[in-house]
Amino acid sequence: MTKTQIIPCPNCGDRAIRKIVDNSIKRTSCESCDYLLVQCLKTGKVIEAYAPGINSYCVIDPVSA
Ligand SMILES: [Zn+2]
Repeated sequence: MTKTQIIPCPNCGDRAIRKIVDNSIKRTSCESCDYLLVQCLKTGKVIEAYAPGINSYCVIDPVSA
């Protein structure tokens, strides 16, 4: 089940789309500035994040994951 919300973008203040998938994954994306945040709600861990001016990164350690 996916819930979709419109929220103000944390990066640019424009409208961003937040999707909550299966009550476990929160995905926030903004088309205006390419902001992206994917977070696990159960652990609070950021799975993937991207914002303009910040290099895209993945915080999952390939060794432990
Ligand atoms: Zn934005």
